[in-house]
Amino acid sequence: IIEIKGITRNFPLGSETVYVLKGIDLTINKGEYVALMGPSGSGKSTLMNILGCLDTPTAGSYMLNGKLVSEMHDDELAGIRNTEIGFVFQTFNLMPRTTALDNVALPMVYAGYSKSERNERATEVLTQVGLADRMDHKPNQLSGGQRQRVAVGRALVNKPSIILADEPTGNLDSKTSVEIMGLFDEIHANGNTVILVTHEEDIAAHAHRIIRLRDGVIESDKKNK
Ligand code: ATP
Ligand code: MG
Repeated sequence: IIEIKGITRNFPLGSETVYVLKGIDLTINKGEYVALMGPSGSGKSTLMNILGCLDTPTAGSYMLNGKLVSEMHDDELAGIRNTEIGFVFQTFNLMPRTTALDNVALPMVYAGYSKSERNERATEVLTQVGLADRMDHKPNQLSGGQRQRVAVGRALVNKPSIILADEPTGNLDSKTSVEIMGLFDEIHANGNTVILVTHEEDIAAHAHRIIRLRDGVIESDKKNK
């Protein structure tokens, strides 16, 4: 489902070049549950952004569901970002003045669903993530864990098959982290491909495969269960 070969990513920095990813080959099959680990600055977020089609590699190929991402048209890419991939961020990235329901429903606006379809599906998803009683709350009326539940709901709303999460528990206490990981376990059990970045071994232990990056290359890639 995800097949990358020889991916590099450089960033210009003044007159220099920063070499962040230095040749990554990686295949992730449908339904896998993967944790991506590695020291700060090793390139985890850079790789996740490429996998999520939010960034383009400097070189190398990315094949997603049998199609080369580099050959996709802009609207095809936008569609993939919106319906094939759900992205969850460490800092939640919710719309501050918008209710939980409308935050969750937003990707459905872009996908062209009617208001009644959006409300029905967003209500279903918010119930699934345990926020049935918080639909009309705005982000500042929710706890960190509840905000992350909203963000997970938003990632799920268009029923993507791939969920990418970059340090989804990075801003949460350990008890709340366990609750959020329960959601990811459930998402995986429902048949989705889940790839998450974490610095915590006990978070990574939820995954069935652990990939460690170091200095822009894969240092190890091991089965975990
Ligand atoms: P952390 O665990 O701290 O989140 P990470 O493994 O996610 O680290 P990245 O965010 O992928 O690390 O960054 C890797 C390196 O790439 C860093 O040195 C960073 O400064 C550099 N980098 C990332 N994005 C850019 C950018 N847009 N422009 C320039 N340099 C960048
Ligand atoms: Mg990062």
